[in-house]
Amino acid sequence: MNNNSAAPDSTQTNESANGNSDQRPSSDTSQSDSWNDNRVIVHVDLNSFYPSCEELRLPLLVGKPHAVIMTHEEQGRITKGVVASCSYEAKKLGVKSAMPLTAALKACPDLVLNRVDIPYYATISEKVMNVLHDCSDILEQTSIDEAFLDCSGKIHALGVHKDKAIDVADSGLGHGPLKREHDSVRNLSYSYLIEDFANSIKNKIKLECGLLASVGVAPTKSLAKIASDFRKPDGLTIVPPAAVPNFLENLEVERISGIGTITKKSLKQMGIETIGQLARTDVQTLVHRFGNKYGIRMWKIAKGLDADPVRPRVEHVSLSSEFTLPDFTKDQQRLLVHLNGLTDELFARLRRKGYQFRTVGIKLVHADFVVETRERSYLRFQDTRESITSAIPALLQKFYSTVPQRQEGQVDSDIMENAPSHSGTELIINVPIRKIGIKLSNLILNSGSGREEGQSSILDYL
Ligand SMILES: [Mg+2]
Repeated sequence: MNNNSAAPDSTQTNESANGNSDQRPSSDTSQSDSWNDNRVIVHVDLNSFYPSCEELRLPLLVGKPHAVIMTHEEQGRITKGVVASCSYEAKKLGVKSAMPLTAALKACPDLVLNRVDIPYYATISEKVMNVLHDCSDILEQTSIDEAFLDCSGKIHALGVHKDKAIDVADSGLGHGPLKREHDSVRNLSYSYLIEDFANSIKNKIKLECGLLASVGVAPTKSLAKIASDFRKPDGLTIVPPAAVPNFLENLEVERISGIGTITKKSLKQMGIETIGQLARTDVQTLVHRFGNKYGIRMWKIAKGLDADPVRPRVEHVSLSSEFTLPDFTKDQQRLLVHLNGLTDELFARLRRKGYQFRTVGIKLVHADFVVETRERSYLRFQDTRESITSAIPALLQKFYSTVPQRQEGQVDSDIMENAPSHSGTELIINVPIRKIGIKLSNLILNSGSGREEGQSSILDYL
């Protein structure tokens, strides 16, 4: 176990437990506790996920140095490949992720090898995500073994429960065991609630899925991620809002997700090595060096000001709309008119459901019922009608600019790196079409209502 507070000198959880025991946790407590008006974001990172899954399947592996190998050899002994991940016992002997198998075996001749088995790991991951879903208001799974949880509502509800219990106790209505319970509840600070809550998440993952996780709790996503990374394996690091500057002060800049070796080098040339130094740097200097977006982002994270919301992923969901043409047509203009009509309907549904999308797809059903689809994905989430309509001509072009490969359900997907251009050239329609459809996929829920930053500009495509 490795459950500790954020930093030795931080205003941490445990101290404030009794300080305000005789007062309602109103604004007075917020000074010691400081979570009241802040978000409670939890980042969960499963430890050595692939090797741990292998241990679940084959408990004999527990305690042994073993590794999961990416290899093209589908059967028999694994003789070639690269280490995808390895157990802590193997790590201690010098085995690392991305190491060629030969080097890994040199470091650890007894290394037990398993093939990467993503479908199996995905079933375990799903089990964990279901547990996390129940523990959060909003769950954002960011990879097979990591997720952000926004637990603000759940934690504040626990706090309200605490307030009410104190009211009851204070008004003399509580007696006997009830009164004792109220007294103990009264003594809980928000920080204790959060610590209990985070430990219960770890315990549930352990009991229900048999896995260890490192957990970070902080008022922002970027900090929660830094916190979960702080102690591994099986760690718990809580950074209360008041402790944020102390926690970040001496951490290396590369702890910030997105700051890699190149940025780190540039920052070092500027005399910036710690997050504290980064926070004290004039933001204009950073903008000048790294550009508006990146410069401001790293500065804000260093200041603990990242407002990025936890967004639920709804990628398994898509929105689509289809239309059967009154008669078969090859006429491009008619197809565009009908596709525009579908766009209106689809866009209204997108708005109503509060989604943003990344991928636009068009489906054409030929007269002989052959179905063809083409799709394009934006690099960023979009929420304007224009971002649907502007993709359509380029998508249509993709059907006809190449020899149609007439295959059921074929998908031709690519990344839209530039704004799709309205093509002035006539399309060569060579097959009559009976039905058309548009599909929006890679959906994400809008964060909060009334978020209107979705105006797409050329920059959104970059
Ligand atoms: Mg992990």
